[in-house]
Amino acid sequence: MDTQALAQLLFPEVNDTPESLEARFPARNLPEGAVVTRMAPSPTGFVHLGNLVQGLTSERMAHRSGGVLFLRVEDTDAKREVPGAVEVLIETLRHYGIHFDEGATMDGETGAYGPYRQRQRADIYHIYAKKLVAEGKAYPCFCTEDELAAMRAQQEREKHTTGYYGQYAVWRDRPIEDIRAQMAAGHPWVLRFRSTGSIENHFKFDDLVKGKISVTENNIDHVLLKSDGIPTYHFAHAVDDHLMRTTHVVRGDEWLATLPFHIQLFQALGFRLPKYAHIGPLQKMDGESKRKLSKRKDPELALTYYRAEGFPPEAVYEYILTLLNSNYEDWRRANPDAPAADFPFNVKKCNPAGNLFDYAKLIDVSKNVISRMPAEMVYSHLTEWALEFEPEFGAVLARDRAYAERILAIGRGGKKPRKDLAVWKDAKDYMGFFYPEFLQAPIFPAQADLATVKTVLEKFLDAFRFADDSAAWFDKIKAITQEIGFTADMRAYKADPAAYPGTIADVSTYIRIAVTGKVNSPDLYTVMQILGEAETLRRITQAIGVL
Ligand code: GLU
Repeated sequence: MDTQALAQLLFPEVNDTPESLEARFPARNLPEGAVVTRMAPSPTGFVHLGNLVQGLTSERMAHRSGGVLFLRVEDTDAKREVPGAVEVLIETLRHYGIHFDEGATMDGETGAYGPYRQRQRADIYHIYAKKLVAEGKAYPCFCTEDELAAMRAQQEREKHTTGYYGQYAVWRDRPIEDIRAQMAAGHPWVLRFRSTGSIENHFKFDDLVKGKISVTENNIDHVLLKSDGIPTYHFAHAVDDHLMRTTHVVRGDEWLATLPFHIQLFQALGFRLPKYAHIGPLQKMDGESKRKLSKRKDPELALTYYRAEGFPPEAVYEYILTLLNSNYEDWRRANPDAPAADFPFNVKKCNPAGNLFDYAKLIDVSKNVISRMPAEMVYSHLTEWALEFEPEFGAVLARDRAYAERILAIGRGGKKPRKDLAVWKDAKDYMGFFYPEFLQAPIFPAQADLATVKTVLEKFLDAFRFADDSAAWFDKIKAITQEIGFTADMRAYKADPAAYPGTIADVSTYIRIAVTGKVNSPDLYTVMQILGEAETLRRITQAIGVL
């Protein structure tokens, strides 16, 4: 077969050469060991936790090594494309602190290795397609869908592996006259790879996450170009990762199955194979068994979920780090104030089997992350979230920044900060009572004697001096306790509860309920200091009034 003639027959319009592309996209000028990697999403509009895991891994590898992270849009499947999907992806990842150095952007692209949208690269793929044909490594196949379906049915009947290979690869060695005739008749064709592999052969492959794995050679003549001339993922990614000078590919382990083909393809094209990190799936417990997180069943797969719930992006980021590198938590304990970016992330520590998504753990991480934030930062995050998701609450927060920050400063700083908030959604319940709009009417415990409650409140109203320090304030509560015959000695009470009608804890609870409308609140003295004298007195007076 005259493969040169075939190449010319199939790609008459292609005149450019691989050599000119090599010159147009020269090796990057980066320090030794710098990782060049990418995110290569298909623009389907759905951004999920898996994207973030992959993005974070790639980003850490690139930026910790002084390398480059770029965004390539794999839009070869126009049917699945959703308008605006690229913008959503960029914005979502930015929300989580993942920034691209080059590639597709909100309004175009930046970088010297583009275009970064695959649909704009058709001419580039065709240059390599022509080269493969000329070298006898690819050929056109005119099988119709029906013929392929019949072939598959026959393979199934005969219990043969399905696919286009060996004796089934019917267009592999057809004379050029047949091809010419088909083309003249206007029949569509796909370009197939001529595999030289055998499933009898196995070889070792070193994956950054999976470790040393044994793989079987590929013997299938996979499609490189579809009948519309658009490449398949396999072919496009090989060409793109080569020309964009990618050193590392981080992707989901669903691609392991076609890795042997990818290796062949890089060899056939004369490209150096990048290093691969195949990340295992995110799973969750479903009863006794584990299963992959599913788009249909698990709302927590979508990144929009975390935003709506009010997880700070820093918390989700840290949680993913705890999933990916099991030493992250120890590091965080040893470096409580360091930015997460200082952590020595190592892709080789990722669990080859993937990770179990654990909501309780995420909550835990989030509480810690929020507890370490300064009040000003909590305020900004919370207000931004509330204005979008709980606008009435957002409005009161925005009304008086200083006031809200004083509330949010309660129990912050120091070695053991309070951990009241796991998500911004918790905040209204936690601190709403500071605002008249969200203050609930006091409901005293059913077992409390309301006359006693009233007496306590009246005495407190009398004794309360706003200028008291917390010790003097507390002494007054003690005094009231004794005056009404309750005890301030909790130990004595525990030893003989029947001996006392109540304790100082009950007295505090009555006052707390009158002031906050709740049984639980942060330190009551501080609460009153923030509410101010007039408002504290007003609330107690009002509670007395309804008793
Ligand atoms: N477009 C592929 C996907 O969405 C990218 C895989 C890769 O990163 O190479 O899964």
